[in-house]
Amino acid sequence: MASRILVVEDNPDNMKLVTWMLEDEGYHITPAGTGEEALELAGNNQFDVILMDISLPGMDGKEATKQLRKTDTYRDAPIFALTAHAIVSEERDIMASGVSELITKPINEELLLEKLSSYLN
Ligand SMILES: [Mg+2]
Repeated sequence: MASRILVVEDNPDNMKLVTWMLEDEGYHITPAGTGEEALELAGNNQFDVILMDISLPGMDGKEATKQLRKTDTYRDAPIFALTAHAIVSEERDIMASGVSELITKPINEELLLEKLSSYLN
């Protein structure tokens, strides 16, 4: 069965791009435009990986990750932060929220696919 990936991203163009990259590889994508929506979808479905944009309207990706880490289903699940921020102090803050990996935008497709398969195999 195809691995299920929850993609949390508020920018429609980025969402389209990530969806295109991953569906092309046979992954099953569920989109979420906000952290709140992501938590609801994650609560009702079992995703193999979550790609989490950090800058989101309302709850940000760090807070959404912290909430997910409190649940049995996502305590140890792969959650990749997607961020344009490159400042070291900010990176530390993002990692401290509990994400497994930090992927900087613009996304390097090869790197993302490599990291995904390393967590899924
Ligand atoms: Mg964003």
